[in-house]
Amino acid sequence: MFTLESLSEKLDRLAAFTAPGPGVTRLVYDDAWCEAHLWLQAEARALGLAATCDAVGNLWLHNPELPPGARVIALGSHLDTVKRGGRFDGAYGTIAALLLAAELRGSGFPVAAFVTCEEEGSRFPMALTGVRGLLGRLVPSECEGARDANGVTWGEALAAARARGCAAPAPAAGAAVPRLFDAARQLELHIEQGPVLESWGDKLAVVDRIAGYRRLRARLTGEARHAGTTPMERRHDALAAAAEIVLAAESLGRATGAPGVATAGFASAEPGLYNVVPGAATLGLEVRHTEAEALARMERELGEAARAIAQRRGVAIELETKAGEEPTPLSEELAAQALALAAGMAIPHRRMASGAGHDTMAFAQAGVPALMLFVPSRGGISHSPDELTKARDLWVGAAFARELLAAWRQELA
Ligand SMILES: [Zn+2]
Repeated sequence: MFTLESLSEKLDRLAAFTAPGPGVTRLVYDDAWCEAHLWLQAEARALGLAATCDAVGNLWLHNPELPPGARVIALGSHLDTVKRGGRFDGAYGTIAALLLAAELRGSGFPVAAFVTCEEEGSRFPMALTGVRGLLGRLVPSECEGARDANGVTWGEALAAARARGCAAPAPAAGAAVPRLFDAARQLELHIEQGPVLESWGDKLAVVDRIAGYRRLRARLTGEARHAGTTPMERRHDALAAAAEIVLAAESLGRATGAPGVATAGFASAEPGLYNVVPGAATLGLEVRHTEAEALARMERELGEAARAIAQRRGVAIELETKAGEEPTPLSEELAAQALALAAGMAIPHRRMASGAGHDTMAFAQAGVPALMLFVPSRGGISHSPDELTKARDLWVGAAFARELLAAWRQELA
């Protein structure tokens, strides 16, 4: 059985694979990512597991006797981080899965650890490519041309990682990533990344839903005019309209209330000079909710508010939906079972929804009975170098996952 110390020690070692700077920066296919990937493969082999890459650099750590395509209990998380992220996001679920898969290797219960290559969307303008590949739902040639901030394409970055032993050969052009194993059930351990568990004094959350989101790009076009000579009443200021829309989004989020949230994540103005009334502005808007109807309502109301503001100010507006995910219910049966088990083990716990997206969404959307478990985040902080979960709390989550797997084993025997 693995120990609290071995869990902490491996998390420390994984956190050391980072680009320079504060916190942990491990972007898909970059140097730190490749080194972490090779280290994980070596650790798995040292524990008696096989480490098998798929064509986009997802990793399965599994009993070497499992035949390709076997139905497995998939347990894992993601290897990548955001820029200047924390030590636990993705890493916790990855290391716990490695240790649990190693522990159960000889048990006859086919638990395999998965490590997705990319979940965060922090290098290329797309997220969850890893899990889509893992599930056989990603056609690599469709991502090939996407570029990172330095102009490196996804295809070039992947080819470099592949040359270092971090991905299997590419499939034929137009073909999807071949799926290595078939998930009969899926479990992801993760830090909460929010303040709920800490503020209630709970040690564990059984996550029964994952919020969906919509991203909208608003393009406002007014009139660029001399800022010294154009009277206030004759202006059609695109940035002022954008500013009012930012506040409308905030009001919408507050009025909707938890678990609804609305955010304006970025704004830019053109031409961007002191002495010119902005003629154009671009705004990035996002709404999230755990209920499909409420999410659709938030999107509609935000769009209506933005159009009304633009119209009143005599500014043209184009609203474009950039991305979205539906709210995703996880397995109610598995959630109920986990809640009963946590009560039986006297672990202070609660049922909750996740406001953040996770790899687990894709499993659930693919019809795999899926579940997530959260452990507390100090101060609710995540995507930050200040991310912290106490070693003891990490251990409670992993020990609970071990018991849950034992219950699944009994049930599926
Ligand atoms: Zn994560």
